[in-house]
Amino acid sequence: LLGMHHIVSDGWSMGRFLAELGALAAGAVLPPLSVQYGDFALWQRQRLTGATLAALNAYWRGQLAGAPALLELPTDRRRPAVQAHRGDQETQRLSPPQAAALRELVGGSGATLFMTLAAALAALFHRLSGQADVVLGTPIAGRTRSELEPLVGFFVNTVALRARFAGDPTFGALVAQVREATLAAHAHQEMPFEKLVEELAPERNLGHSPIFQVLFALQNTEREALALPGVEAAALALPRAESRFDLELIAAETAAGGLEIAWRYDRDLWDGPSVARLAGSFAALLDAAAAAPATRVSELEVLTADERRQLLRDADGGALPAATDAVPDLLHRLVEAQVARTPEAVALIHAPAAGAPRVKLTYRDLNRRANRLAHRLRGLGVGPEARVGVSLERAPEMVTALLAVLKAGGAYVPLGPAYPAERLGLMLEDARAGQPTFVLLTQERLLPQLDAVLRGQDGVHLFCLDRDRLLLAGEPEDDLPDGAAPANLSHVIYTSGSTGQPKGVAIEHRSGAAFLRWALGIFSPQELAGVFASTSINFDLSVFELFAPLAAGGAVVLGDDALALAATPAAAEVTLVNTVPSAMAELVRMGALPPGVRTVNLAGEPLRRSLADAIHALPGVERLWNLYGPTEDTTYSTFTLVPAGEADEPTIGRPVAGSRAWVVDRNLRPVPQGVAGELCLAGAGLARGYLHRPELTAEKFVPDPWGAERAEPGARMYRTGDLVRRRTDGDLEYLGRLDHPVKVRGFRIELGEIEVALAAHPAVREAAVLAREDQPGEKRLVAYVAPVEAEERPARRPGATEAELEVSELRAHLAKRVPDYMVPSAFVLLPALPLTPNGKLDRKALPAPDAAAVESAAYVPPASDDERQIAAVWAEVLGLERVGRHDRFFDLGGHSLLATRVVSRLSRLFEVELPLRALFQEPTVAGLAAAVESARREGRREVPAIQRVARTAQRRPRATP
Ligand code: AMP
Ligand code: MG
Repeated sequence: LLGMHHIVSDGWSMGRFLAELGALAAGAVLPPLSVQYGDFALWQRQRLTGATLAALNAYWRGQLAGAPALLELPTDRRRPAVQAHRGDQETQRLSPPQAAALRELVGGSGATLFMTLAAALAALFHRLSGQADVVLGTPIAGRTRSELEPLVGFFVNTVALRARFAGDPTFGALVAQVREATLAAHAHQEMPFEKLVEELAPERNLGHSPIFQVLFALQNTEREALALPGVEAAALALPRAESRFDLELIAAETAAGGLEIAWRYDRDLWDGPSVARLAGSFAALLDAAAAAPATRVSELEVLTADERRQLLRDADGGALPAATDAVPDLLHRLVEAQVARTPEAVALIHAPAAGAPRVKLTYRDLNRRANRLAHRLRGLGVGPEARVGVSLERAPEMVTALLAVLKAGGAYVPLGPAYPAERLGLMLEDARAGQPTFVLLTQERLLPQLDAVLRGQDGVHLFCLDRDRLLLAGEPEDDLPDGAAPANLSHVIYTSGSTGQPKGVAIEHRSGAAFLRWALGIFSPQELAGVFASTSINFDLSVFELFAPLAAGGAVVLGDDALALAATPAAAEVTLVNTVPSAMAELVRMGALPPGVRTVNLAGEPLRRSLADAIHALPGVERLWNLYGPTEDTTYSTFTLVPAGEADEPTIGRPVAGSRAWVVDRNLRPVPQGVAGELCLAGAGLARGYLHRPELTAEKFVPDPWGAERAEPGARMYRTGDLVRRRTDGDLEYLGRLDHPVKVRGFRIELGEIEVALAAHPAVREAAVLAREDQPGEKRLVAYVAPVEAEERPARRPGATEAELEVSELRAHLAKRVPDYMVPSAFVLLPALPLTPNGKLDRKALPAPDAAAVESAAYVPPASDDERQIAAVWAEVLGLERVGRHDRFFDLGGHSLLATRVVSRLSRLFEVELPLRALFQEPTVAGLAAAVESARREGRREVPAIQRVARTAQRRPRATP
């Protein structure tokens, strides 16, 4: 047995060795060698100095300048921190006709088979990684002089080949590029790879090899067979158990004229079937390139026919359940059908807090009330396509109002009273544009607030449900004949807009009806018996919470927000909770999920395994759903049951019935399984578009390239901007956002909207806002502000320090323009915002707000025992090292969910009943200590948790949608 380390031999050496062994055995005498390996080593060392080395260096430095450190291919598993080099191999065979087509391509190009294969590989990796720049390694024999040929020793070297895809070259142009790179690499091959690494000094990382991670070699010489007299010898392939790189492709031409390619892969990254799929994609791309080399690389096929069929299956949520009755696809008709089935059943429960009057409405009552208002609205001219504003507190009238608008034939537009007047004004103006009269349903209590909104808006017809209720007395109570058709608008939901102007998503009845038909197929009437409806109607989750139970005979249990679940005396009637994970995490922490809850729906932001586990650990919960969907696709687009006891992060599952979910690359071409791409949605749930914004609509709702394949010419799909990948089991993994908007605690936020609002402040020269997650799981908004020059600044309060004045002023300025969840929790003042070399804002260079900078400039230590304890609780909850007595909770990164946590801890700690609003009124440590003291004086003893929250629930600012 002869073992040879690669450090003293290479492939060529093995050929020499076998030949000489055979010759010796046959009795030949070997000619003496003119030089030995040591001579070569000395010569190499002398040569690689001075001008020669400088020239080699210059070439390789130039060649690799700015190359990406890592080729990020779609892998089955995350890259371990340290590469273990455990490998395996998949073998791919290209048939003789396939190889012949390739050779024909090679013949016409002036390149070699190696260059063409390398180009195709780089193209594939570019397509799968989305990287514009791909570096491959390739071994090179290194025996540049004839004296070296007979030697046994390590001469082989590795060179890097870089391919660039900027400008989307054709395949032919790419081959020409790779040809040049290969020839130049040969000309500069004397630079030993280890020396190159030393020279370039890339940041080293045990997780991957430097400079390149994929090696490609074409072996064009069959190894000489061992010929020993009287001995029959055959080559045995040894199993490959190691991997030197992420991937190593060794191609060889077979005797039959085909090509055989060994794909050696790192087992920590891939499983065999995925590597086989990569190989399939490679074959598809080679075929496409050979057939039409003038094709642009972005357009080369990377899907095999099988994969394409599989993708079409996986993308399709299947047919919607057929309507069982003759009910047309109108939201209110689905509810009316239920009224007919169970007129006496409870449709609505409103029990905001202990002691408050509890309201229960039957289906018949709800319907009658809605009908009276609907008749009145018809009288006011409301009909198909007419938008009607709804600005109401969360009470039964709100539900009645929505139904009434729909019954009248119109579309409701939530204009939630919690928004600042300026933003409501923008929404109202947009909603009414082009409409001679605009009815706004509201209530007397809110009129003072609406005053500022309505200033300058002539012709808005106000109808106050309380003040004007006598006007309804004479209206009929029966259902109205249909006003709207399924293709008419049912509602418009405003979401944050990047230009500073919120945009209205216009949804038609048929989309909502399709959504409900799907929901009724998934959620049983028992599950929908008591749905806790806590989401503001400004957000699309509310569509599920209100209409799903009402179409199934269940009851809507109306709550102020998700956390109010702890407080409502109707908690026992709740069977299903539908909310965002942030709020759910808080409910779990508070131990506030009522025992009757069997089903938990989470949506709106990524669901983490830890939360899923915590929910499964609760005794009552039987089903936990992760639901995903943008407002533009009517609430939910994909869904999955989240099983207990799994290690993986929850997926977002598969498309809902009637919907299709495509994963596409930049050019809207479908990507193979496992490859990250943008999620695009098509099908029954698609919104009509953005109200009055044809250009924006055309940009986001694009032609569905597979519409034709499904015999749906003209079909559209919505580009979500969400990055996902499809697993081999067909489930979609949510990876994050491609750009804005961002999600913070379930709120959809266009950072641009905040930036525009900030820039409107006279003292702000430029502003940027980021959603940062400097502490895992704690995402928050951080504003970066460059003030105008000092002399141009408006005069300020005497004695105020600069930082204090700026931040509190900016905060107040924003609070007037954007909803509270869009006010950043930290502000960083910079002399100027960092720019990239080409003059754009360099978002990556914006610093993390360091805790010290966020703390007020003058740190004053807590002054009493109470203050010290309060400061300690804040520091822990906010993840800060220290907190001063004058520091403001919300300036330190606090938000309303964290506020709940602080208040409940302090209440326990001091054994007083501290209302949540105390923290909003006295947001400093000193102020809160005073609040604790006065609570003590009033002798309020702590009451049990559920009731304590009950008393504070009404005053609480919205914590989540
Ligand atoms: P919205 O229009 O408010 O419903 O926000 C839609 C966006 O919220 C999506 O584009 C996603 O970025 C995010 N989102 C919604 N549901 C989920 C979910 N289940 N998991 C992760 N992100 C989600
Ligand atoms: Mg949604």
